[in-house]
Amino acid sequence: MVADPDVETCTKCPELVACRTKIVNGRGDPSANLALVGEAPGRFEDETGVPFVGRSGELLDEALVDLGVDPAMVRITNCVRCRPPDNRNPRVGERQNCRGHLDTELEAIDPSVVLTLGRVPTQELLGEPITVTEHVGEVRELPIAGSTRQLVIGLHPAATLYDRTKRPAFEEALTRAIELAGLY
Ligand code: SF4
Repeated sequence: MVADPDVETCTKCPELVACRTKIVNGRGDPSANLALVGEAPGRFEDETGVPFVGRSGELLDEALVDLGVDPAMVRITNCVRCRPPDNRNPRVGERQNCRGHLDTELEAIDPSVVLTLGRVPTQELLGEPITVTEHVGEVRELPIAGSTRQLVIGLHPAATLYDRTKRPAFEEALTRAIELAGLY
């Protein structure tokens, strides 16, 4: 039996539990062949309980549509499901606490391709401290959530908000992931 990819209750991270509004589960196709994994919810995600709904989410959805992919055809989720206070990075312990939820979700969705959106998810899923901007677009084949999957190293869409020169690399990684997942 396939586990439910959504988390209804969880109190593993006391600091996050104390300030979260909602647990933010993944959105999109529950059997997608491509999963996009970000870092953690922000303010709008915390309020709505939906990942990537702020400006970064709009950018991500717009980029997918521009590339001919309906965002509902992919799975979009995060390494941790509760918003860290003041939008700080999730701590290693919080990532470890939430890794089981991410693995359960990826096991249930069972995508053949996973695109990481930025440093935190890349380091979490690769298990090594690489500099993402030096490796963006690279594809690694490795075991993730019980199966061998293709991991594409990508940038967080917010990175293109602050630095437009990063937009081509963001789009190239997204395009590579879409092609590998056979969504064209
Ligand atoms: S971040 Fe994940 S592990 Fe931590 S409390 Fe939220 S759902 Fe639980």
